[in-house]
Amino acid sequence: MSTDCLFCKIAKGDIPVTRVYEDEYSLCFPDIDPKAPTHLLLIPKHHIPSHAQTTVEHRQLLGHLLEAAAEVARMEGLDAKGYRIVINTGPDGGQSVNHLHLHILGGRHMAWPPG
Ligand code: AMP
Ligand code: ZN
Repeated sequence: MSTDCLFCKIAKGDIPVTRVYEDEYSLCFPDIDPKAPTHLLLIPKHHIPSHAQTTVEHRQLLGHLLEAAAEVARMEGLDAKGYRIVINTGPDGGQSVNHLHLHILGGRHMAWPPG
């Protein structure tokens, strides 16, 4: 827990969000500024600043997050047509909140390459 971290506050319940999916290790809620018809954020409850800070000790958690994202995608009906998972990392990656999060985007065709 990082006391000044927005996503830690959301995980703790200090900032209310619609809890789309939740388990012991992770929480999924809608992005406040959606970039697709479905745009969810999946975060670990434990504070990790970014993907760049993950190490071998996070392997289980990272696997957990990817599997939970698949469950969320199925729950949201995104699996038939597909979806995109994005982890923006650091300044060049466009990361604006320094708590690891997966964007789950779907409901429209996604262009490649991303901007
Ligand atoms: P990133 O730019 O990859 O770090 O993603 C951070 C995301 O968090 C952005 O897409 C924001 O729209 C989203 N965001 C910021 N504040 C909130 C909030 N209070 N609730 C939900 N999503 C938020
Ligand atoms: Zn945090």
